[in-house]
Amino acid sequence: MTSPVWHPFTQHGLGEPIPLVTHSEGAALHTEDGRRIVDAISSWWVTTHGHRHPRIMAAIAEQAGKLDQIIFAGWTHEPAETLARGLIAMMPAALSRVFFSDSGSTSVEVALKMALGFWTNRGEPRHRILVMEHSYHGDTIGAMSVGARGVFNRAYAPLLFDVGTLPFPAAGREQATLDALEAACRAAPAALVVEPMILGAGGMLVYPAWVLAEMRAICARHGVLFIADEVMTGWGRTGTLLACEQADVVPDILCLSKGLTGGSIPLAVTMATEAIYEAHLSDDRARMFFHSSSYTANPIACAAANANLAIWREEPVLERIADLEGRQRQRLAALAGHAAVRNARQLGTITAIEIAADTGDYLSNLGPHLLAFFRDKNLLLRPLGNTVYVMPPYCIEDGDLDLIYAAIGEACDSANA
Ligand SMILES: *Cc1c(COP(=O)(O)O)cnc(C)c1O
Repeated sequence: MTSPVWHPFTQHGLGEPIPLVTHSEGAALHTEDGRRIVDAISSWWVTTHGHRHPRIMAAIAEQAGKLDQIIFAGWTHEPAETLARGLIAMMPAALSRVFFSDSGSTSVEVALKMALGFWTNRGEPRHRILVMEHSYHGDTIGAMSVGARGVFNRAYAPLLFDVGTLPFPAAGREQATLDALEAACRAAPAALVVEPMILGAGGMLVYPAWVLAEMRAICARHGVLFIADEVMTGWGRTGTLLACEQADVVPDILCLSKGLTGGSIPLAVTMATEAIYEAHLSDDRARMFFHSSSYTANPIACAAANANLAIWREEPVLERIADLEGRQRQRLAALAGHAAVRNARQLGTITAIEIAADTGDYLSNLGPHLLAFFRDKNLLLRPLGNTVYVMPPYCIEDGDLDLIYAAIGEACDSANA
């Protein structure tokens, strides 16, 4: 019997195999048919330290023995209180309030609603959101609205709200982005939402720290709220705890999710400045922040996140990341001279190349061909069109990195043949 499961971003009509994974450990996934798969993309960017980190698994087990789930409107619990305090201690000082939700997409929805609530409650309603070309912020309607338009959301386009789009600050064209932001800010938008330093789903597109710093400064000058979507970049992915640190940028609103629990269990937070919180603070119920989801601040998920924060506080995580960065750099350099490789780039633990042979269109043939090629080599790699990127868990060992880069080299050879 075929499976009744409807998978995300999967065309079931193509009949591509869907491996059944039974267990995981470190940088590896194990399948029912006995294969060991190297997880070269951290299970879609979530797994930071490695699969089934013992401290995180222990925290989940311990919390499961105490409190599973409670309503979070008007009630609280120790794991959420500890986590909020831990985040405030770890993240930029201006971010003094923590709102919980369950996914990266909802953390962005919350950020947008906070921004609009801020302006409305100040009696100065503003609704326009500025975004960057090629951005990705999630798959709910609001998150899609502030992300790139394309085949992914064509069917829903009539429901998506209008935004102001800044051109991507490609090398040599950075000033155009800043000029566009400066111009757009004159129309008093509510906020700018950006992926700091690197656009993930848009194709692992890297832009310089000084552009991020300038964008932040322009927003500050015009009183436009600056929302940093660090759902992918947070928790060390780019070499620092937050990508914003590399530009000395402190956002007004910060979205965190993927690595918040080390990638073990769903949880998200939207952190905000005191000014945004205070705009909602009143004895008037009509000014409260109108958002909740059933599992807001689930205690077991918060316990997993607390274990992640403890790992960050007590273990040399940034050193591990710097070491992985160096080990990836060597292997990328070896690949960069290949005739089929274009635009080799790296930011922290993330490396990416384009394989020259195709149009770069997500639905072009090279992507699925590469996906199958890597799957047959027992590698979890998921190219974005002809962009092949590597984003492994921080615990990955040299042997596994060698397997990944050898397979990418072979894929380049065949593209070139
Ligand atoms: C993955 C991602 C999201 C969406 O997160 P989900 O948990 O998949 O909803 C939002 N923003 C960025 C930058 C992401 O990479």
